[in-house]
Amino acid sequence: MRIALDFDGTYTLDPLAWDAFIIAMQRAGHLVMVVTLRAADADQLALESHFYSIGCPVIYCDGQPKHTILKEDYGYVPDIWIEDDPRSIHEGSRLNPEQLAAWREKDVHRKPRTERPIADHFGAVPRLQSRRAV
Ligand SMILES: [Mg+2]
Repeated sequence: MRIALDFDGTYTLDPLAWDAFIIAMQRAGHLVMVVTLRAADADQLALESHFYSIGCPVIYCDGQPKHTILKEDYGYVPDIWIEDDPRSIHEGSRLNPEQLAAWREKDVHRKPRTERPIADHFGAVPRLQSRRAV
């Protein structure tokens, strides 16, 4: 199975328990990936290197519908979505620019700007190639 795990409001509620879940699913032969509405440049996760260290890719959808990003950019959709906001799968972010700015002010999970850009943390993790031209 390919399992998409949301970050904000899902993973953040109990990171240790979700880490145990990720590792248990991997041992059973499944792929768990963090799929977030965050933008890779503005909202890069401080925990990104942690996820890659446990073999869990991180996919940033930049506010776009998660289903669309995975299907069009990566060529598949997950078998299972774990999500506190199921509408984000097909509708993306509902925050307007002012709401997004206010959310970013309060965000405690973002990597500090002084630490960006980061090195490639994929390592031995199977890299999920985007079809989108960069
Ligand atoms: Mg969420």
